[in-house]
Amino acid sequence: MENMYQNMYQNRGALVREEIRRTRHRSELLLYAVCILAGLIAACFVVFFLSDDLDVIAELKNLLGFFGLEEGGADYTGGLVVLLILAGVIGGVASIIFMLVAYIASVYAMYAQQLSYSIRVSEKNFPEIYWKVREFSELMDLPVVPEVYVQQMNGELNAFTCWVPGRIFIQLNAEIVDLAYMENKDFDTVFFILAHEMGHAYLHHVQLQYTLWCMPVNFIPVLGTYILYPLLSRSREYSADRVAQALTGGTGELSAMMMLSAGRHAYKYVSPEDYLREITRKRKPLERFAVWVVNLLASHPIMPYRTRAILDPGKRSGKLL
Ligand SMILES: [Zn+2]
Repeated sequence: MENMYQNMYQNRGALVREEIRRTRHRSELLLYAVCILAGLIAACFVVFFLSDDLDVIAELKNLLGFFGLEEGGADYTGGLVVLLILAGVIGGVASIIFMLVAYIASVYAMYAQQLSYSIRVSEKNFPEIYWKVREFSELMDLPVVPEVYVQQMNGELNAFTCWVPGRIFIQLNAEIVDLAYMENKDFDTVFFILAHEMGHAYLHHVQLQYTLWCMPVNFIPVLGTYILYPLLSRSREYSADRVAQALTGGTGELSAMMMLSAGRHAYKYVSPEDYLREITRKRKPLERFAVWVVNLLASHPIMPYRTRAILDPGKRSGKLL
């Protein structure tokens, strides 16, 4: 009997691992590359803008000649400008180091918040969640089991995943954990949200090597901050939802969507049929446009798009625009 359950578990593990490999939104990697490229182009543009129409190579030759390292540099005149460019390059490297240090400081600040104000999920505290984290980690072959913390956030329904050197941690707002331990006893929805967060870790969305490369795009006004980065962010949310579906087998997915809109008590009184009818209703062109703009500027896909993606029997990638 024990062998039978062991085999069932191993088979499920193999199926989940197979499904999980295909969970990334089809545009995510392309958008990631576009964000990196846009950041690099913006950086080059700044350098060229600062150097105006200067012949950098000729100026460098002149400078080398000035120091006796290259012939023909005796009439050197542009040293100050080249030195300014060199100062710019050094400044650029210093800014990257500063960005790195600032990023690591910010993630440690978030981790310190957990150590200061949260309850760590353990075998004794919220054991159901603790064992689920271990199960999901095993299914995903995560090299490190994430630490999970519960913190009350004055009614805010949210959860997030973050990286600090050597570990991944997840904050589940207590308002989410309440779903499982208060009147609704709804573990499925909590596990779906947990699986979504672990999906971000599995797809490396929070690890330094991923975030650092696409960070500069945020410094491009309007195009970077309001268009490209939110687009990438929305594709990542769809990817993490797909991981959650694979891990949980789809239980809790629709209730998670309804809970995010109706709140942690009232969502149990929402009619799924009516909710689905409303989000798939045909809208007038102006209404459609207004909704399109809301989605365009959002870091997460709007709920109708996200719900439709989750319930899509073909499991196609969700709508980004
Ligand atoms: Zn997410």
